[in-house]
Amino acid sequence: MTVRWGLIGASTIAKQFMIEAIRAQADAEVAAVMSSSPERAEAYARENGIPAAVSALDALLSTNIDAVYISTTNELHLEQGLAAIEAGKHVLCEKPLALTSADARKMVAAAKKAGIVFGTNHHLRNAGAHRAMREAIAADRIGKPIAARVFHSVYLPENLQGWRIARPEAGGGVVLDITVHDADTLRFVLGDDPVEISAFTQSAGMAGGGLEDGAMCVWRFKSGVIAQSHEGFTTKFAGTGFEVHGSEGSLIATNVMTQKPVGSVLLRTASGEEELSFDREDLYTRSLRQFHAAIRDEGQPSATGEDGIWSLAAAEAALLSAKTGKTVSIDPKLGSGN
Ligand code: NDP
Repeated sequence: MTVRWGLIGASTIAKQFMIEAIRAQADAEVAAVMSSSPERAEAYARENGIPAAVSALDALLSTNIDAVYISTTNELHLEQGLAAIEAGKHVLCEKPLALTSADARKMVAAAKKAGIVFGTNHHLRNAGAHRAMREAIAADRIGKPIAARVFHSVYLPENLQGWRIARPEAGGGVVLDITVHDADTLRFVLGDDPVEISAFTQSAGMAGGGLEDGAMCVWRFKSGVIAQSHEGFTTKFAGTGFEVHGSEGSLIATNVMTQKPVGSVLLRTASGEEELSFDREDLYTRSLRQFHAAIRDEGQPSATGEDGIWSLAAAEAALLSAKTGKTVSIDPKLGSGN
């Protein structure tokens, strides 16, 4: 069976990665795109070789499609997701799933009730580097994990310096943009869930409207692991990385908090240093493959709806912590600070 995809949102991420990732599947086609502007829908469809262009959600949902990929600005995900679920379409939704974890829970519950596949597009858990780290930890290669450090402060490219740094009502800000990914990657690599977070945020000169463009968070996990993460839009030269330090060894990954299958993972133990090898498959192509398998009832999306609730609950807790100056509990069932 061919899965016919409808794109909700004429976005940069779809153009840069997702259209190609869909077309890389043997059993998929991009059937239609929806933009809020008819002109932009037409132009986007033409540029990307998409057969149908529409400018209303109803029109998209009544075309012959099986699944939707939602990559509009964040405040629109909830309403569009619920409508797609109601129309019986499988949903792959961008992060953050919504503006609050309570709204994300509504969407995930609706998807479950409707019996459709629902996934969150957390790309990083599809990276060979992060899977190699998770496997090394699970195989006891660093002993008992003690601490983790995430370096994910980047420079927001000029073409993306729009709603992310200017529109709080659209879910802008670095925490909803990048801390959600760090929450998901920490959970995935450690195989553990965060219980509380303490965060400082800043506006270092790029974001306006009261939005933050930098954040530093300190996390505590169920097992007792503590972690720190740094997210930012304004650091041109920082580089990215992910480290996990255990009782018998350390995993030191460089240049891995990125959309491309690049970077390296070093394992350092009493016996010396070893560069871990891992596959270099495109992250989004793998995400789509898993999603298609889930449609065939062969497993789950790489990041499920529940994973999306977790990452949003963590981001929500980070924002509340930054606002109140207090450590905030993370609870995907109840939301933050309960
Ligand atoms: P864009 O700004 O490119 O697109 C978001 C929306 O903005 C589009 O749906 C479109 O609305 C509107 N838009 C785009 N270009 C224009 C324009 N020239 N003029 C007016 N409006 C325009 O956002 P991104 O692609 O960066 O992000 C979209 C979503 O994807 C977000 O939820 C984000 O968090 C997520 N994301 C996820 C990534 C990942 O790796 N998982 C990476 C990057 C983003 P319309 O559809 O109505 O035309």
